Amino acid sequence: MLSYDEKQDVSPLASPGSDINSKFKREIQEICGENVMSCYQCGECTAGCPAAFGMDISPNQVMRMAQLGMKDDVLASKSIWLCAGCETCATRCPRGVALSRVMDACRQIAMKEGKAAKESNVLTFHKEFLRQVQIHGRAHEVGLMALYKTRTRDFFSDVLSGVQMFLKGKLGLIPSRVKGRAEVRKMFGK
Ligand code: SF4
Ligand code: SF4
Repeated sequence: MLSYDEKQDVSPLASPGSDINSKFKREIQEICGENVMSCYQCGECTAGCPAAFGMDISPNQVMRMAQLGMKDDVLASKSIWLCAGCETCATRCPRGVALSRVMDACRQIAMKEGKAAKESNVLTFHKEFLRQVQIHGRAHEVGLMALYKTRTRDFFSDVLSGVQMFLKGKLGLIPSRVKGRAEVRKMFGK
């Protein structure tokens, strides 16, 4: 991974007067350790991303805009909230960049700065997911979906796929708990 270079803090490609935030890439690197300047825009991440079809900015464009310091545009995008954190991009990147971590850092910055998620339901899902992990050490899918649906008042979408998953034994009614839940809680405390 290339180290962060202060001299590259303002991209020569940013047009004069454009709304850039020259510290954005450093903020990202401080949170997740990834240097967005390592990306050379091959597009491998986007080609393999299972969520790219629903994004308003493709994953490689998120990287490019982060390089250019287009913080407001990145934080206002749907893409950072639709990223499922599957890490396909990280395994495909020839530059060894974990774009999944960059997406996560952008979500953290957006939440810290009180930027509303364009996909408000996705934010609710993230919060419920983390709450489940905090309680059980892992997500309990049925509990997660019940809470999510109650909070979003979206009771009927995905019902059929939920029933199919239940019939195939993929959904347990009783939450399973992992060992080391105390350690997980400590991590949340930090
Ligand atoms: S795969 Fe890596 S180098 Fe290629 S565009 Fe995506 S982040 Fe950039
Ligand atoms: S981690 Fe996010 S950006 Fe990367 S491939 Fe998965 S959904 Fe796409």
